[in-house]
Amino acid sequence: MKNIVITGGTGFLGSNLCIRLVNEGNRVICVDNNYTGSLENIAEIADNPNFKFILHDIIEPLEIDEPIDEIYNLACPASPSAYQGKHSIATTKTCVFGSINVLELAKKHNARILQTSTSEIYGEPIEHPQTETYRGNVNPIGLRACYDEGKRCAESLFFDYWRHEGVDIKVVRIFNTYGPKMNPGDGRVVSNFIVQALNGEDITIYGDGSQTRSFCYVDDLIEVIVRMMASEKGFTGPVNIGNPVEFTIKELANKVLSKIGGNSKLARLPLPSDDPTQRQPDITLAKEKLGWEPKTMLNEGLDKTIAYFKEKANK
Ligand code: UDP
Repeated sequence: MKNIVITGGTGFLGSNLCIRLVNEGNRVICVDNNYTGSLENIAEIADNPNFKFILHDIIEPLEIDEPIDEIYNLACPASPSAYQGKHSIATTKTCVFGSINVLELAKKHNARILQTSTSEIYGEPIEHPQTETYRGNVNPIGLRACYDEGKRCAESLFFDYWRHEGVDIKVVRIFNTYGPKMNPGDGRVVSNFIVQALNGEDITIYGDGSQTRSFCYVDDLIEVIVRMMASEKGFTGPVNIGNPVEFTIKELANKVLSKIGGNSKLARLPLPSDDPTQRQPDITLAKEKLGWEPKTMLNEGLDKTIAYFKEKANK
């Protein structure tokens, strides 16, 4: 049994991680401000004596008066519609002040700490697929910069705490992920398309739909995050994690429509600024160092996700 802190623990990935680690017999302390997460996501473990929820924004320093072995830092809104606009400054603060606060916590407790970074640090990638050595092509003053540059700064903080403060760090870069516990209203493409098709509404394609993403099912992603945390000391990453099978957004829309049926039509909306044209992880490093590759392909993963949203709609 380990004592584990998960920041961002009521969000999509955080809640899936909390549930897995509690069910494996660990003590889990979940920290979240519930800006994009929700207590509903962790309802099934809320009464477990090994689980504790703390309502806290990691922009503020975090004290925990229990032993801590491991910290997973997942706190940050991850959907463009949630991190842009009026929440953009708080997003940068979450990445930067939040990282400092969790790194200080790790240092104090001598805990191992894993940062969930993002494929967004590659910006509009010139190199395709993206390897970890690619340094990216981010617009530092664009609408996505609060997230992209915030996450880049977080990586630099993690590596400075490792180099200068002796903190035992791990960094993963998460590519697009989908599955149960996504917030139906959070604006991301998989949840939007499924919810729109289920409601018989138009499927909103931004731009011409030729931009690509590579979609990883949540269980595969949680598995590799846990493996990274357990990897040999000194293997810091960063490691790309995601499913390398690439689809255009239009292909995704047609796939969702063919599964759900109904009368929805494809509707074109303007492409948001700085929306990356292509994205595909090179996962050679994860395969070699963590013995991992995704098992659930998009067809099966979409079926499970559609079933989740149907059940949620009927509650
Ligand atoms: N997208 C879309 N329709 C939507 C939501 C998103 O066409 O209703 C597109 C978006 O422009 C982007 C891709 O789908 O090219 C993935 O968007 P998402 O917000 O899921 O994640 P991102 O990879 O951009 O962070």
